[in-house]
Amino acid sequence: MISFDSESDPDSGGGGIHPVRSGAAPWRKPETELATIHLSGGTACDVLIVGAGITGAMTAEALTRQGLSVLVVDRAMPGRGSTAASTAMLLWEIDTPLVELADLYGFDKAASIYRRSLAAVHDLGALVEGLGLACRYAPRPSLYLAEPSAAPDSLLPELLARRRAGLPGEALDRGALMARFGIDRPSALMAGGAAEADPLLLAHGLLSRAFERGARFVADEVVGYDRLSRGGAARLASGAFIEAGTIILATGYDMPDFVASDLHRIVSTWCIATPPQDAARLWRDRALIWEAGEPYLYARLDAENRLIVGGEDAEILDAAERERRMPEKAAALVKRMRTLQPQLAYEVSSAWTAAFGETVDGLPLIGPVPGAPGMLAAYGYGGNGITFSFMASRMIAAMVAGEPRAWFEDFALDR
Ligand SMILES: Cc1cc2nc3c(=O)[nH]c(=O)nc-3n(C[C@H](O)[C@H](O)[C@H](O)COP(=O)(O)OP(=O)(O)OC[C@H]3O[C@@H](n4cnc5c(N)ncnc54)[C@H](O)[C@@H]3O)c2cc1C
Repeated sequence: MISFDSESDPDSGGGGIHPVRSGAAPWRKPETELATIHLSGGTACDVLIVGAGITGAMTAEALTRQGLSVLVVDRAMPGRGSTAASTAMLLWEIDTPLVELADLYGFDKAASIYRRSLAAVHDLGALVEGLGLACRYAPRPSLYLAEPSAAPDSLLPELLARRRAGLPGEALDRGALMARFGIDRPSALMAGGAAEADPLLLAHGLLSRAFERGARFVADEVVGYDRLSRGGAARLASGAFIEAGTIILATGYDMPDFVASDLHRIVSTWCIATPPQDAARLWRDRALIWEAGEPYLYARLDAENRLIVGGEDAEILDAAERERRMPEKAAALVKRMRTLQPQLAYEVSSAWTAAFGETVDGLPLIGPVPGAPGMLAAYGYGGNGITFSFMASRMIAAMVAGEPRAWFEDFALDR
């Protein structure tokens, strides 16, 4: 018998931060929309995925490849949550530097997490190529900048830790950074192994492949869960319900209350894009630029040579306040980016703001939901959220197949 618990009824679909974004990033709208279905009464499937963002899309692709019957439910069109706001820098470097992660968990565990992150970006590239997804995926180097006031050797411990962990990268001093990138900073770490993509096209492409293998997209909102029985069931706003062997929660920053973890917090973040830049003025290698320090700043170029800059994170939960701060934050992003690349044109053609999730250790929350035997959650937080979404999809596929690994515990919700 299905019993929808009162804690998740009627608002469990969200933790109160909806809408998660406003303003529009310059991503390509997919040329075809995915077919949707509407349910009435009860339906059963092997796996129900709640959320059709990049996490749900990667997970649906992985699970349908295992031959499972998959339903994906979203209250919006696929990819239109945080994924549409993402700047989609596919970094393997985690928000928490390796030296800090090693202080928290010991060097071996921290190094192994970093190596898995590096492998995830590589494997995502192989998947995109293997599936022939037209999502503007391209390998890029990353350039991690020291703060302006940092000592010249402030990144040296991080470089040495990365070398010890077998990770790629080289240090650039002020002279080398100026000569190669025209950036005036005390030092930087440059490394291969990162990539970029159009996040909407990537999510759409992955879902398309999953749907070719039989997955179906249900346009509805989950408003309640039966989370106490093995397997599970979800009640939809339409009144229909879905029974599944496993329910995967991939609802982005809008987490059901019963998943809420002390490890994470939601902040607000802002981004801008410019019109296409003069190709002769672009920085070298189209590197993904990000910097140490608070508030955060990062930048990349898209396939049309638009400059995309993000950061200026602040502890604001209210969507209206986030929106109100947009002009001020856009101006701050322009000002800070101009100091790094003064030769570019700084007309702002789009600006957007969104909720952004972070965890205290910089690692995502992936795995069984405590107290809910049939539920797995995948919350890919942080600046490299998409890399973590990919890791989540592989881990979940292994868990659903009954093949969990010991290292999955590194990302457990109750770690
Ligand atoms: C501005 C910004 C910039 C970023 N930049 C980067 C970056 O450069 N690189 C990177 O790797 N990561 C970046 N991230 C992080 C990354 O984008 C996110 O980690 C990722 O998009 C999360 O995807 P998701 O599928 O988990 O969530 P979402 O894309 O938010 O998808 C969740 C979906 O769940 C649906 N949903 C929620 N509740 C319900 C419900 N009850 N019923 C039905 N549907 C529901 C929503 O409608 C939504 O479509 C950025 C994030 C932001 C906001």
